[in-house]
Order: sequence, then C-alpha cells, then structure tokens
Amino acid sequence: MDAQRLHYLRALDIDVWVPRDAEEEQKPEAQESRHEARDHESGRVTRDAGHDVGRAQSDRVTRHVSRVTTIGEAPIGEITASTDASVATLDWPALEAAVKACAKCGLHRTRKNPVFGVGNRQAQWMVIGEAPGADEDAQGEPFVGRAGQLLNSMIKAVGLQREDVYIANILKSRPPNNRDPAPDEVTACIPYLHRQIELVNPKLLLCVGRIAAQNLLNTDTPIGKLRGQVHRLGNRPVVVTYHPAYLLRSPGEKRRAWQDLVLAMHTMQGVAG
Ligand code: URA
Repeated sequence: MDAQRLHYLRALDIDVWVPRDAEEEQKPEAQESRHEARDHESGRVTRDAGHDVGRAQSDRVTRHVSRVTTIGEAPIGEITASTDASVATLDWPALEAAVKACAKCGLHRTRKNPVFGVGNRQAQWMVIGEAPGADEDAQGEPFVGRAGQLLNSMIKAVGLQREDVYIANILKSRPPNNRDPAPDEVTACIPYLHRQIELVNPKLLLCVGRIAAQNLLNTDTPIGKLRGQVHRLGNRPVVVTYHPAYLLRSPGEKRRAWQDLVLAMHTMQGVAG
C-alpha cells in the first residue's frame, strides 16, 4: 500500500495505524518516511514513502476482514438479471444511443442530460449508484458532485483510480428534486444497467446505497443487513456499502464503509485470476 492510498484512507476517516514495531518508527529514516507520507497528501512524494505504515495498515486489513466476512445473516438468494429483448443484444454505441433517445418514463421530460455511465468498459470493478443528481444531470456524467468526490476517495482507498472502474446508476435520468426513483422508472431503466453489466463483464459489483442495492438485488432488505456479506447477481459477486452522500452526512459510518471495501477487495482476490 503506498502513501497515496493512505491519504485516501484518511479521507475516509480511517485511522492510519502506526507500525507495530514502535522502535522502527523512532528511527530518523522512518520519521522521514512519515514526513514524506504527509507531504504526499499535497502531491509531493515518491511511491515508496510510508511503505512501512502501509504494510501495517495492510496487515490490519487482513486481520479485520476475517471478522467482516463472518458477520451478518446469510446472503439473500441468487438473483438473475432481468432481460429486456430490446436492449439485451445492443452493443455499446447502440446502447448509448438507446439511452439518449429513451422516453420509456416521464424523466426524459425533466432531465437536462441522460447519464449513461463512465469509465473502463473492461473494468474488473463496477460501481452502481442510484440516479443522477443536479451536478450529474448538468454534466451528463455519474458521481461528479461532492458525493462523487468521496466515491473517488473510496475507489482510491481500494488501490484503484476512477478511470479503472466502470460507474453507472440504476436510473439514467435525474428524478426531480432528487426524490427516490419510482418503481415504474426502475422497471423502465434497469435493463440498460443489466446490459452494461453484461458488456463490461466485471468481476465484482459494488452497490453504493440502499436504492442501488435493493433494486439490483430485487429485495426490500434494509441496507444494514445487506452490507457485510457477498451477494450474487447471476454468478457475479455483489458487495453493498453506504452511499457516499450518506457518508457525507454521517461520517461516523465511514468505518463501516471501509469494512465493506475490505470485503470487496478480498472478494475480488478470490475471483480474480
Ligand atoms: N448519486 C448517485 O447515486 N449517482 C450519481 O451519479 C450521483 C449521485
């Protein structure tokens, strides 16, 4: 784990644990390393800085996840993606054009821009959110507002860049006043997401927030019970965590979000090959 990643862990309010060997920390060169790690927060350091600190953090993560994976009830049953014949065979350009032209629900009348999705179309991680907000509606890109900045930190905390993952929402159009998506809107829109999942073919789906999780997993189970365990969409693992907008309002929950990200990383280690 490098210094930059530690920086993003700090952005998530995750404690950066001091090395177990306290003597090591007292050595001048180790102190220098800590300095460099701090400097790196303003972008001025080499990748090796803070390595010892990072290893200690990584050890803790490994110890921690063995607890995380055992909490919670059994995952809800295996869910299969719904298919819509009109989108199930579309390629990327046709799918994007279909979303742009879509008038299957009333949201196309009030949206400024459809928000299709963004990122690496061969990503191993796919992040699924709820629906565009005002910033996303204005820019036509998911997670570009304050919540998006925190999502970027969450992505960086697992050692990735925003460009490495694919990000999409349950709804491609903004619900007025950021109200919850209506069931008919989800029914109309979710086939686009399912097709995106098929096309990206990620190894892991990370659902952020209750709405994303409940709609993707087709359940009413509260998010507190959905997180902390690995679900499946088809045979694809799905990990649920809190929405970054919620984490901005409730920073005390960032620790739980970090547990979820650790579970996702370990799940990914199990499926990546
Ligand atoms: N919240 C979401 O769920 N998605 C976005 O794209 C932005 C905010």
